[in-house]
Amino acid sequence: MPCCIAIIHFAQCSHSTLFKLGCTAHCDALCPAADQRTLVVTRYLWSCEDCHMRQWLANDDLRSAAWTARTEALEEDRGLPVEARAVLFDMLRCREQYEDNRLETARQLQVEEIQWVAEWTLEYGLMVWDALYERRYGPRAARRRIKQLRALRLWDLVVTRDALRGGKELRQEQVSRSTWIGAENRSPQQNQGSQRKELPRLPTLNGPAPIFRAEDLEMLEMEPSEDEQEREAQDLMDVDESGDVMMDADSPYDFNPA
Ligand SMILES: [Zn+2]
Ligand SMILES: [Zn+2]
Repeated sequence: MPCCIAIIHFAQCSHSTLFKLGCTAHCDALCPAADQRTLVVTRYLWSCEDCHMRQWLANDDLRSAAWTARTEALEEDRGLPVEARAVLFDMLRCREQYEDNRLETARQLQVEEIQWVAEWTLEYGLMVWDALYERRYGPRAARRRIKQLRALRLWDLVVTRDALRGGKELRQEQVSRSTWIGAENRSPQQNQGSQRKELPRLPTLNGPAPIFRAEDLEMLEMEPSEDEQEREAQDLMDVDESGDVMMDADSPYDFNPA
C-alpha cells in the first residue's frame, strides 16, 4: 500500500478533507485509490469551515436587513422629538456594534476549533504513518507523542478508524456524549435496517448537537478481524491498558522504553 492517508469527515455538512501522510513509492501527488491505505479516519460532529462561512454570510445579510429596517422605522417616526431620535439612533448603533463584536469572537473560536481538529487528524495520522512505516521518531518519543495526541482529542472529534487500534477499543475510548446521542436518535427506519440516509442539515450556530448517523456507529463497531488492513496493523502493534502503544516482542521496532 504505497500511499497512506488520513481523512476527517464533517458530520453536519457531509464534507471531508483528505491528508496524504506519506507514500512508500514516493509519489508526487496521490497514488490511485486501489493503492491507498487509510490509516486514520476522524469524524467531527459539526460543519467544515467553508460551510460555517457560508452560513455566517447568510446570517449577516439577515441581520443587516433587520438593522436597516429598525433604522428606517425610527426615521419615519415623526412623532419623536429630534433629540430623542438622536439618542435612539446612538443606542441602535451601539447595540449593532456590540452584537458584531460578540459574533466575531464566537466565530473566531469556532474557526480555531475547526482548524485544530483538522490539524489533530493530520498530526495523529503522521504519527501512525511514522510508527508503521517511516520510523523517524525514536520508539519512546513516538509512544509519548501518540499518547499525548490521544489525550488532547476533543470529545466531538471521534476517531472511527485507527491503524494502531481496533474498532472495539476506539468505541470504548469515546465519551458517552459522543455515542449515546447517536444511539438515542436513530430513527425507526434506521433501527429497522433501512438504507435511507438522512439529509445533511444546514449548520446552525445555536442548534442542538448533531447526531452520528447509523453508518458512523457501524464503523465504530467494526472489528479489526473484519478488515485486512486493520488486522495487519494489529499484528504489528498492540496497545496496553494505559493506552500506550506497544510493539510485539518480535518486532524490530521496539516501543518499550529501553
Ligand atoms: Zn503514493
Ligand atoms: Zn462543509
